[in-house]
Amino acid sequence: MPVSRRNVLIGAGVGAGVIAAGGAASLLSDGLPADPSSLHRIASLPADDSSPGWFHTSRLRQPKAPLIGDAKAPWVVVGGGFTGLAAARQLALNFPDDDVILVEAQQVGFGTSGRNAGFLIDVPHDIGAPDYIGDQTIAKHVLELNQRGQSILRDQVEQHNIVEAQLRHSGKYQAAVEDKGIAVLNAYRGGLEKLGQPCEIIEGNELRDHIGTSFYRKALYTPGTMLVQPSALVKGLADSLPANVKLYEDTPITAVDYGVKTVLHHATGRITADKLILANNAFGQYFGFLEGRMLPIFTYGSLTRPLTAAEQASIGGKDFWGVIPADPFGTTSRRTHDNRILVRNSFSFNPDGRAKPGYPEKVRAAHRLSFERRFPTLKDVPFEHTWGGGLAMTRNGAGFFGELRENVYGALGCNGLGTVRGTATGTLLANLLAGKRESLTYYLLSAPKPAWNPPQPMLSIGVNFTLRKGQSDAGLEG
Ligand SMILES: Cc1cc2nc3c(=O)[nH]c(=O)nc-3n(C[C@H](O)[C@H](O)[C@H](O)COP(=O)(O)OP(=O)(O)OC[C@H]3O[C@@H](n4cnc5c(N)ncnc54)[C@H](O)[C@@H]3O)c2cc1C
Repeated sequence: MPVSRRNVLIGAGVGAGVIAAGGAASLLSDGLPADPSSLHRIASLPADDSSPGWFHTSRLRQPKAPLIGDAKAPWVVVGGGFTGLAAARQLALNFPDDDVILVEAQQVGFGTSGRNAGFLIDVPHDIGAPDYIGDQTIAKHVLELNQRGQSILRDQVEQHNIVEAQLRHSGKYQAAVEDKGIAVLNAYRGGLEKLGQPCEIIEGNELRDHIGTSFYRKALYTPGTMLVQPSALVKGLADSLPANVKLYEDTPITAVDYGVKTVLHHATGRITADKLILANNAFGQYFGFLEGRMLPIFTYGSLTRPLTAAEQASIGGKDFWGVIPADPFGTTSRRTHDNRILVRNSFSFNPDGRAKPGYPEKVRAAHRLSFERRFPTLKDVPFEHTWGGGLAMTRNGAGFFGELRENVYGALGCNGLGTVRGTATGTLLANLLAGKRESLTYYLLSAPKPAWNPPQPMLSIGVNFTLRKGQSDAGLEG
């Protein structure tokens, strides 16, 4: 979600503990050794809902076959999202004579990296700071990190001709309708100006001419954001990996044995790694790291069918735009390259990181209300797809970057903005492993780590309370 949502957790004073063990045992594979005492069993495996709109409306692709039996490599990356794809690619480029194994539990493009709103955002937005920028030094690092992720993705789209990603330099409108939202925009404008970042207030009829709705009173336009079809992008990235990357899809890692070498277990065999890189976001905690420090919070999206010419004319505006809310609990919307409208809002706390059955259906009414408020002339346009996706939030807004134990490394904890950040951190981690450090590497290594959270049941009570209150307080921004 294109807004930093640190206070989701700060406000709750909540934390982790997390992880329902229930159901996990049944997920474990065959092929485990007779003495499982040294094994760390993965207590929860990804299980996303079947209706991600971006996945189903993008190129049908033949996934790479699951791994059958055993394999080994100097480098193994777990997680085929933005972070893992970037890490695997960069490792392969840094070590052209080595094999790199990239293993993904589902299909590439089906997990959270293919379920987001597709905003590749450059500018920082720290909702804990009065001007939404806060410490200038940190803000400059965050800006540089985001711009690095953007430029890596843009270069790969160009180099590999991933046209289906529909990458556009369209900027973003951060829009508000309520007084408190307007106050956020004004304060943030001041912060961006201090940071030297271009921005522009657009309001009234002029705003309607940009985004086809007169629902909002005001927007802060920042030109540096790019928009993409996220599932098409990650599918394209997966299909253009260097030849020394072996990608195995539909291959969940079910247990792990840490030793001089790391042995990962899957349904039909084992993968032995000299060095392991965890790029599986909130699921990293089931590998024995950062336990009780990450919070799998789901948010939800809907896509309409393509608008007819008459429907497009009824709203007007530019033919491609993206709006994020001034309130972090508000609604994101987009008009897509194929003339659909995207709506994203609603949250749930899913402690095991897996989709809750029935939730897309449950949130659709909230999406419908937000959509019809913004586009009353489109009230007969149905949603074709509604889905959810998991974010790895942390209480202090910090992600993890670096060494987790000997020969095990991670880039984890996306905090809701992992398209560009994950791409940058995955790349920088692969460079660090090749002995290449730069100022951003030092920044990431010295940055605060994800904070501890209190145990269950306080955790769920606190997170659920905060999510409910935030969504209710968002008022019309929701
Ligand atoms: C509705 C929605 C809207 C969003 N909007 C935006 C946005 O506009 N801009 C933005 O920057 N961010 C947005 N996000 C957040 C963004 O999608 C994430 O930050 C990003 O996907 C994180 O990338 P990642 O590669 O680190 O992790 P993920 O995308 O979560 O990838 C991790 C992968 O690891 C795999 N995995 C986990 N465990 C195992 C295992 N045991 N074995 C094998 N594989 C495993 C998973 O299947 C998954 O594919 C949004 C998210 C949602 C849900």
